[in-house]
Amino acid sequence: MQSWADNARRSGKRLAVVPTMGFLHDGHLSLLRLGRERADSLIMTLFVNPTQFGPNEDLSRYPRDEVGDIAKAAAIGTDIVFCPDPKDMYGPRHDTTVMVPTLSKPLCGVTRPGHFAGVATVVAKLFHLTWPHVAVFGEKDYQQLSVIRRMVRDLNFAVEIVSGPIVRESDGLALSSRNAYLNPEERQQATYLYRGLREARNVFKGGTRDAKTLVDAAADVIAAAPMATIEYLEIRDASDLSLVQSVTRPAILAVAVRIGQTRLIDNVLLD
Ligand code: AMP
Repeated sequence: MQSWADNARRSGKRLAVVPTMGFLHDGHLSLLRLGRERADSLIMTLFVNPTQFGPNEDLSRYPRDEVGDIAKAAAIGTDIVFCPDPKDMYGPRHDTTVMVPTLSKPLCGVTRPGHFAGVATVVAKLFHLTWPHVAVFGEKDYQQLSVIRRMVRDLNFAVEIVSGPIVRESDGLALSSRNAYLNPEERQQATYLYRGLREARNVFKGGTRDAKTLVDAAADVIAAAPMATIEYLEIRDASDLSLVQSVTRPAILAVAVRIGQTRLIDNVLLD
């Protein structure tokens, strides 16, 4: 992978990478299109990174379709799909971790300790392996995007980070590989996530700035989905993820819920 990237760079090509865990949906494909527009050669990485899963999480049952993913990526004009073996990524003496502790602490960090260290470490490795000029990430994983932007600044990676908007189903549910876990009833209730966020954003657009009022507006809607247990529903500063009492600067309203065995996240920008 490194020598391919090196050769491409030597011949003057601009490289884009889109890191993924595969089981591609239209959200991933939108990021590939963004990468395609911004570079001469497009690399997709497909790696279900074990170090970002907790001990009781869904690593072993994470959905996979490598053959289908490669076909979808090729159809969009991806030049390389890089699918490393976990044993090659993490040898027996692997001992280095990249941590972005402040941004990793709230939100998903509360129930997924170690998750963002796993993410930052694998993304740092993938950047060194694919040597991109530009890397594309989805706003669906807003905290992940924040952590990666911080890592790139702090560690002086010469990589431009580009973000793509959340791609949704027609009923508003954010596309996610994990949506495949939902049974029909759970799938129906999952629509209340975005309904709640949208309601709060409408109240915000109506002039309300008080964070608690906005959060309550979303919570009232999500409460109509009895199978959904809220893990967090918070308004945080869009740049440093600090808690916000009153939305006077760009902020995100971020939610994580559990529906049955499935954990779903979503967010909207309040700007
Ligand atoms: P994953 O395969 O879940 O690790 O996601 C790979 C990339 O796709 C990440 O940058 C995600 O933020 C992004 N992504 C996932 N779902 C969506 C979506 N619905 N819309 C846009 N980007 C997404």
